[in-house]
Amino acid sequence: MAVTDTPTTNVPTLPAHSDPDTDRVLDSGLLHELSYAFGGPFHFLLPHRFDANLAAFRTALSDAGVEGRVYYAKKANKAAVWMERCAAHQAGADVASAGELREALGHGVRGENIVVTGPAKSDELLRLALLQGSLIAVDALDELDLLITLALTGTVRPARVLLRRLPTAQPHSRFGMNEAQIEVALDRCVRAGDAVRMEGFSFHLSGYATQPRADLAGELVDRCLKARVLGLQADRISIGGGFAVDYSSADHWHTFLADQRPEHYHARKTFHSGDFYPYHSPVAGADALRTILATVPEGGVDTLAARLKDTGTLLMMEPGRALLDGAGASVFRVQGVKDREDYQIVTVDGTSLSLSEQWFNSEYLPDPQLVTPTGRPAGSGIHPTSVGGASCLDSDMVTWRKIPLPARPRAGDLLVYPNTAGYQMDSNESPFHDLPLPTKVVVDRLGDRPRWRLDRRPAC
Ligand SMILES: *Cc1c(COP(=O)(O)O)cnc(C)c1O
Repeated sequence: MAVTDTPTTNVPTLPAHSDPDTDRVLDSGLLHELSYAFGGPFHFLLPHRFDANLAAFRTALSDAGVEGRVYYAKKANKAAVWMERCAAHQAGADVASAGELREALGHGVRGENIVVTGPAKSDELLRLALLQGSLIAVDALDELDLLITLALTGTVRPARVLLRRLPTAQPHSRFGMNEAQIEVALDRCVRAGDAVRMEGFSFHLSGYATQPRADLAGELVDRCLKARVLGLQADRISIGGGFAVDYSSADHWHTFLADQRPEHYHARKTFHSGDFYPYHSPVAGADALRTILATVPEGGVDTLAARLKDTGTLLMMEPGRALLDGAGASVFRVQGVKDREDYQIVTVDGTSLSLSEQWFNSEYLPDPQLVTPTGRPAGSGIHPTSVGGASCLDSDMVTWRKIPLPARPRAGDLLVYPNTAGYQMDSNESPFHDLPLPTKVVVDRLGDRPRWRLDRRPAC
């Protein structure tokens, strides 16, 4: 087959918002050095961006005059550096397993600054959380009973709990207790006396809409007031996570959705617009928190911020993705190029398990950038390119879409996927085929020569 240097198809593009910090790393020459050193794919992390995102959430709280606490939802990225940043800033961590709890403690997050969520918790997790004075979001009556038993029979008490409310608008959620169960739980908390400190309520809503979060938060404030009448502490609520990240502009996103068709993907794979994460959000991150605080909950007259202040209720939140916005990227090396009729398939040195979106029957859409040994090619050509993984599975595609690269990729070039720290890097990673897990590199300082180190993982 002839090598096609002149592209024959127009393919949709989804450029990520430009990001000067990421560009500086791309243009520094560091990535080719690291790719050579590690001999496999790797991720780089930008902790100062995590710090900035955390600060933005805290500023949104203080601007609204609301007392609040931010807990980083640890499952969004396993790197140790985020725990180090939480510890340094006295921020909290949201964990769902004994391993995550140990990681948080091992990097200096204090037990009292940890909130334990997750749909069901092991005995080991509950015991550790109790010993460390962590706050436990109770999801079911049996969990509450076990916790009360542990507190009554152990030497450490009280057990600090939030009661998680099943959202009325999402009755099929696996998370939380219905009205009747909440009533029973409150009664058991009262009876448990000093074995339990009932600190408030929480919820976990899927989706990214702000109004339902404000509505449910308003309802939980009312529940706190009623619980206080029963003699319970009930002075805080948690609105969980689900603060959107804005990856791309409105124009690019809507054009992409309108234009994309099966012929734009390797093997004519079909994706529907609802299969994708909403890569553009007009209100995202800390601005979503501002919006929630400024919203009047359904049936009320005051904004949520006013309700919280007037009732002396503290607002907790557990952002994952939003704290990681702009805080990292993923680097794969091109191993080979296969020509097809009117596009190329490159094979890279890692698998789609290291760009997790693929495993949700979806695809990570922000365009990867091509970095050659001499830098980013400026070419204005269009070289539609799909990206295959290094495993022997036909379905192991890092990107099914034919990405419009500005130059024909060659072995040794790098493909850099932007803004991948939130959920893409490690939730599904696997040493399948004895391929190495991607290394995580922390870039502590940008500059002509960026300062980098390996992410630290404690042996625990
Ligand atoms: C996953 C999760 C979060 C974080 O969600 P994001 O969408 O990343 O903000 C927060 N709280 C709980 C209970 C979760 O399960």
